[in-house]
Amino acid sequence: MLKPIIITLTLLTFLCFVHSIGANAATQSRENYESTGNVIWEVKTHQKIVAITFDDGPHPDYTPQILDLLAKYDAKATFFVAGNKVKSYPDVLKREVNEGHEIANHTYTHPYDRNISANKLSSELDNTDKIIKNLSGYRPSLYRPVGGLHNDTIINTAVNKGFKVVLWSWHQDPKDWAMPPASKISNHIIKALQPGDIILLHDWSDRPQTVQALETTLDYLYKNGYECVTVSELLYRSHLKFPEFLMDIPVQ
Ligand SMILES: [Zn+2]
Repeated sequence: MLKPIIITLTLLTFLCFVHSIGANAATQSRENYESTGNVIWEVKTHQKIVAITFDDGPHPDYTPQILDLLAKYDAKATFFVAGNKVKSYPDVLKREVNEGHEIANHTYTHPYDRNISANKLSSELDNTDKIIKNLSGYRPSLYRPVGGLHNDTIINTAVNKGFKVVLWSWHQDPKDWAMPPASKISNHIIKALQPGDIILLHDWSDRPQTVQALETTLDYLYKNGYECVTVSELLYRSHLKFPEFLMDIPVQ
């Protein structure tokens, strides 16, 4: 009586195992991915520099409010945009570019899919590149996977197209998408703050709390001698060594 049940259960477990191998591309450790230099979570630096990033926009109401605050504090940010939102709000993207912020690729339709195929991801990235290039004249060099979901297929597809894959400091996700009070968002960022952090925020959907938290955060950063730079500048500056930097200045 028990035997057929045990055989059936064993068979089911085996089938689930085979299915999971087939469906999920391999994911390596963070250390492995970081060692390639193609995937970053944050940078190591003693300089008081951080990168604030906004995902999923541009939004017609909240992104302009965010841009006003960034301008007030002379801060630069990186916008990981979704191509279909750029199509709807091209003027907001143009403003981001004109004000010196970095535009990065966050797919076209924002598919939340750990098992996305290389072909599907490739066309998502191409479509977003195309619309950004048409509006700004340049192609982005950074890509952030939707939901941070990554594996070899996702990373290799992006890297083969010349992208650097940018996640975020795991201690700098204040979960603003869940719409907590603004003070909770800014307290989270300020308490966890480290030089070289990449901070995750969102400008799509209803984001009054994010805007309010941004003002508190920028004020704190400004008063404490931090500079907000784009992710590309964060990477560039973290590689500069002080003496080499001095030696780079041409002697008259
Ligand atoms: Zn997203």
